[in-house]
Parts: sequence; structure tokens; C-alpha cells
Amino acid sequence: MRLSRYFLPVLKENPAEAQIASHRLMLRAGMIKQQSAGIYSWLPLGYKVLRRLAQIVHEEQEKAGHIPLLMPTLQSADLWRESGRYDAYGPEMLRFKDRHDREMLYGPTNEEMITDIFRAHVSSYKDLPLTLYQIQWKFRDEVRPRFGVMRGREFYMKDGYTFDLTKEDALHAYNRHMVSYLRTYERMGLTAIPMRADSGPIGGENTHEFLVLAQTGESEVFYDDRVEALKLGDRAVDFDDRGQVADICKEFTTLYARTDETHDAALFEQIPEAHRRVARGIEVGQIFYFGSKYSEAMGATVTAPDGSKVPVEMGSHGIGVSRLIGALIEANHDEKGIIWPEGVTPFHVGIVNLKQGDAATDTACEAIYAALKAAGLDPLYDDRDERAGAKFATMDLIGLPWRITVGPRGLAKNLVEVTSRRSGESEELSAEAAVAKIAQIYEGI
Ligand code: ATP
Ligand code: MG
Repeated sequence: MRLSRYFLPVLKENPAEAQIASHRLMLRAGMIKQQSAGIYSWLPLGYKVLRRLAQIVHEEQEKAGHIPLLMPTLQSADLWRESGRYDAYGPEMLRFKDRHDREMLYGPTNEEMITDIFRAHVSSYKDLPLTLYQIQWKFRDEVRPRFGVMRGREFYMKDGYTFDLTKEDALHAYNRHMVSYLRTYERMGLTAIPMRADSGPIGGENTHEFLVLAQTGESEVFYDDRVEALKLGDRAVDFDDRGQVADICKEFTTLYARTDETHDAALFEQIPEAHRRVARGIEVGQIFYFGSKYSEAMGATVTAPDGSKVPVEMGSHGIGVSRLIGALIEANHDEKGIIWPEGVTPFHVGIVNLKQGDAATDTACEAIYAALKAAGLDPLYDDRDERAGAKFATMDLIGLPWRITVGPRGLAKNLVEVTSRRSGESEELSAEAAVAKIAQIYEGI
């Protein structure tokens, strides 16, 4: 993409309404525009990151054997009456009537609707296990929308639902989600710690929240700091291998880590003093096992091998895709702007032309731009007729992890400069070597 032809409405001033870095930087970098409280347009740069995160979520879900589908955002109140949640949910649910006076709502979550789909089409244990998921907009009329996309009213969520015959199978589905979530966050360059949590209005006995530690997080968390060092890394996972999946879950959940609702007075004995931490975190996902809560209420049964009809065992599993962008920026920024991890960056590399209009410099930039594209990369070429300082400031603000700077002085020695946004360190290379270096960095990402 050439910046002169892109739509990147960066702001020079700090927006007064933004209290935290991620909100401020998303507005300044032209990623989002607020349309009303907690409701945002996703401008091209923000939308690119949102799509990238959704792509990673899809890839990891499909690796775990989970099947994507898409449900509508608008739901009928009748479905929610069946489960008893229409009255229980409270003012966070946006309710309205259509022209025929039918009561409708904008879905805050989809347990009822997926159970309705299940009961219409599945009746035998032979069709299990089944995990269906979607990435879809949700609406919750939060009393205090704030921090930009971090606590929006309309937000983008991956929500997955598991259907199994037995509790044992359902707990494997739960474990499979935990491991696939760990891999998802790691691919995004984030450390998200699974913590035991309270199940809230979804209900159920087994639930973990995934927390990214950050001072601006809304949740208070209590944990043993040794959990921060746990990594899935590149170990191969066979999602059908119950033992392996359970062992990984055990490894990640044995040390004490809880969110505020559930921590108990025994915290302070359960963790050796040197490892005890009370901090703040951003909830970027949650998994629940709730058994037959919805299937019983809504008549979602299957025939078991012995011929009896049993309510299906269920769980639901969410990732806050749009909130993750806020969490990523909270964890990756400095005073100049965002610093995207390579796995989620909107463009792989920026090209800065220091002397737009100079024939040799323009030609060199065009050649680098073409070579990067030929290597399968997505570069952003700042070809505007702007001062070098302004170009650097824009690149630093939008946070591309790598920058190639091209100017007459370097070109006289056949060199361009490759700079890491994170370390600030630069290296002088030939144009070919610069392209090869960037291509190598993104190999396998
Ligand atoms: P919170 O406690 O932050 O209100 P929640 O526990 O009600 O969230 P879940 O039902 O677990 O949310 O939804 C799954 C994920 O969706 C959450 O882990 C979070 O990342 C994201 N999410 C929930 N509410 C919002 C919101 N208002 N804005 C953005 N993302 C949200
Ligand atoms: Mg939650």
C-alpha cells in the first residue's frame, strides 16, 4: 500500500477523552472513530488488525477441530424466555420491538441460539462431539463504556459452544479450548494467564478467565508469579490426545492464579511469599463448562448408546477479539506510539522515502516495494511529499515493527537502513539484503 493513496487519518493532538494509552493511540493512529458511546467505526488500519486477529483465531480453532458458522446479531426474545435468561439478564441486554411488535434483542452472547440450532438438527450421540463457533458482533449496554474498544458496547467476540455426551467428554472439550487459547494468545505475542474465575450469569462449575497483566486492567488478580514464565512454545499438540491436552492444562493451572471474585483468604498460605503477586489484568477470554444448564431448559437431548435420551453436555468459550487490540497496545507501546508484535502487525514493514521526487531515491523505493510484495509481504510505502521527521513520526505512531529508510546519502554507498521499532536499533544493508532480512523475519509467522 502507498500511503499517499491510503486512508490513515492520524491525529496530531492527544484526544482529551482517552484515559489510557491504547485508547489514545488507536484514535491517534487513525484506527477507530467513536460513533456513539462504546460504539466504533473500524477505520482501515484498525480493521486490518481486527481481521488479522480474527484470522489467527480461526486458524487456531480449526486446528483444534472446531467448526465455524455465523449466527445473526438479532435474536428473538422467545428463545431467551425458554432458558429463563430474558428476565435474568438485566439492563445490559438491548431490547426492542420490530414492526410487528415482536420482542427482539441484540445478542450479548449466543448460548440459546446455538442450543436451538443443535436441537433442530442433532439427535444422536453418534453426531458428537461437536464444537461450533463464530466470530460475531455482540452488544452489551455497559453502564460505563470506557477505554475505547476495551469496554465497548458493541464488540467483536469469538464465541464457541461444545456439545458432548458425557461430562468427561465435555471436560476434554474444555481443556482443548484452554490449550488452543494459549496458542492463540502466544501467536499474537501476548502472555495471557488462565485464572480460576467466577462463572457469573452464564453459570456453571468450571471456568477460567485469560488475563493479560496490565496496570490499566479492570480486574484485580492474585497469582503466583511463576505462571508468567509458562509458555506453550512450538510444542506439537494432538488435540485428540486427552492425556496430553489435560497435562498441558495442569501445567498451566496448578500454580495459584485467580481473579478477584474467587480469591480466598487462603491466598496469602497458597503462594510462597516471594512469588505472591496482586496486580491488575485485562480479561481477553473465558471458558466455561456448564453441563446441561441450557440443554435441559431447552430440550436439547441426544439418544445415548443404551437408547435413553439425555440432555447434551455443553460449554461455551469466548475470546474478546476487539478488546485484544486494546490489550495488545497496552502491552506494546512507548511514548512515540504503538509497537506491533510481528504476528499481528497491520503491515509487515514501512518504507520511508527521505527524498520524494529524487529520481534515484524514488526508483530504489519502488524496487524495494515491489521486491517485498513479490516475497509475499505487505509493505506500507510512505511516498508522501513530507519532511523526514513527519514520516518517522507517523511510522513510530502506527507501530510497524520494521522500517526501511531510503535516502540519497545511503544510496550513494548502495545502502538502505533497516530499523527495529522495538529496539530502535538500525542496520545498514544493501536493498536486496534488507528485503531478504524482512522476509526471513516473517518466515513462518
Ligand atoms: P467483563 O467481565 O470484562 O465484563 P465478561 O466476563 O462479561 O467480560 P464474557 O461473557 O466472558 O465477558 O465474554 C468473553 C470475552 O468478551 C471477554 O473475556 C472479553 O474479552 C470480551 N468482552 C466482554 N465484554 C466486553 C466489552 N464490553 N467490550 C469488549 N470486549 C468485551
Ligand atoms: Mg468473562
